[in-house]
Amino acid sequence: MPNVVVLGTGMAGFGAAHRLGQEGITPVMYDKNAYYGGHTMSFRHEPGFVFDIGPHISFTKDERIQELLADNVDQRYETIQISLNNYWRGYWPQHPVQLHLHGLPEDVVVKVIADFVEERQKPDGPINNYNDWLLASFGPTFAELFPKQYTRKYHLTTAENMSTDWLGPRIYRPTLEEVLRGAISASSPNIHYITHFRYPTQGGFVSYLHRFVPLGNIKLNHELVSVDPGINELAFSNGVRTRYDELISSVPLPDLIRMIKGVPADVLEASRRLACSSCVLVNIGVDREDISSAHMTYFYDEDICFTRLGFPHMLCDANAPKGMGSIQAEVYFSDKYRPFSGKPEDWIQPVIDDLRRCGLLRDSDRVVFRTAMYLPYANIIFDLDRAAALKTVHGYLDDIGISYCGRYGDWGYLWTDESFKSGEAAAEAVLSKPAAFQAKRRVHSG
Ligand SMILES: Cc1cc2nc3c(=O)[nH]c(=O)nc-3n(C[C@H](O)[C@H](O)[C@H](O)COP(=O)(O)OP(=O)(O)OC[C@H]3O[C@@H](n4cnc5c(N)ncnc54)[C@H](O)[C@@H]3O)c2cc1C
Repeated sequence: MPNVVVLGTGMAGFGAAHRLGQEGITPVMYDKNAYYGGHTMSFRHEPGFVFDIGPHISFTKDERIQELLADNVDQRYETIQISLNNYWRGYWPQHPVQLHLHGLPEDVVVKVIADFVEERQKPDGPINNYNDWLLASFGPTFAELFPKQYTRKYHLTTAENMSTDWLGPRIYRPTLEEVLRGAISASSPNIHYITHFRYPTQGGFVSYLHRFVPLGNIKLNHELVSVDPGINELAFSNGVRTRYDELISSVPLPDLIRMIKGVPADVLEASRRLACSSCVLVNIGVDREDISSAHMTYFYDEDICFTRLGFPHMLCDANAPKGMGSIQAEVYFSDKYRPFSGKPEDWIQPVIDDLRRCGLLRDSDRVVFRTAMYLPYANIIFDLDRAAALKTVHGYLDDIGISYCGRYGDWGYLWTDESFKSGEAAAEAVLSKPAAFQAKRRVHSG
């Protein structure tokens, strides 16, 4: 049996294990955490609140993944039509704002539309960064009041310092007619790349992963601290050492690279230029369930500490005690652009204060549960350094034969389904390697 080691037990790690399992290979899977699931873990707290690690919903359009996840929970999942809104200076426009200007201050609406028309009449100019794209798509007023402000809160850098290769369907570029309809009428169509989502009926998002566990020989509480690619050896902080024939890693690239013995200085330097946001998640339980009509709300104002709110009790009944509601706030940082210091708990009170300020929490509400956690890796920041730095780092890993996968191995804007498939692809690449590995597989399969 070839000794394939998978680092990480998140969606990517299990994607790799799933593909290897189809060839009769059970990898050894190491994870530093005391639990499997990585970012898809869910925690249950008394008196019955379930919080995921950040809002996690499954909106994959890939039917194979849909079926796989549905089978993993014995078809017990909710299918929900998504409702998203925004908060901006006391207004609550529907999402995306560019299609729902109705109800915003008249001067703002007029200026946004005038800019939009003017911009559309200009000849197409070069798009060198996200700022150029925003100006060409929306004109300066809308760009500054909404996406540029949001960028500073969510990506922690300026739109001028970002590329556009992450956009995909994420930000809708409307026609003039769509903008006008949304400005005139409160009931313009809901255009978003996510329309419906699924969520397990019980146990939080991590329920989707329980059935994957037998696919690997899982070793929790194993934090990788060093990799010696010369002798294919891994060392863990608990003193364990092990060898591998093939290594598939979903460990964040900056961490993995600095652990590799003999890594060249330019590769190390490139890995340090890779930017990611980190996040403080503040979880609040309230003695009232009608807190919001939306599953998620985006906050643009820079004097409100959180960037996004999710309401886990709206995903399924089992996420909160009957009659109670839950709120999860995301407050973003970045080692490169806005380093986090202090304790995650320091953000509980500022979050509660801002929830009251925007009116989501009422004076009469009782906060019955509160907790906070820090995520050192949240969203990849597509700054202008990323592409070149990533090419150097990935090129080096290719040279030393370490396969990478997942959101923090591919270093992209991957959702859970994409992370899973990235793990599958990494396993596929390993399986298609010639020479010794193939020979071992032939011996194994007789
Ligand atoms: C706030 C937030 C909200 C999100 N919402 C959604 C959503 O609604 N829907 C959706 O589809 N996707 C969502 N995502 C994306 C989703 O979380 C990721 O695509 C996916 O979970 C990434 O899986 P992964 O296996 O690549 O990484 P991870 O889940 O991070 O797995 C990596 C694993 O490696 C382990 N590891 C790291 N370092 C070491 C080490 N030194 N030694 C040993 N083990 C180590 C970690 O403990 C972890 O278990 C969201 C992400 C965030 C941050």
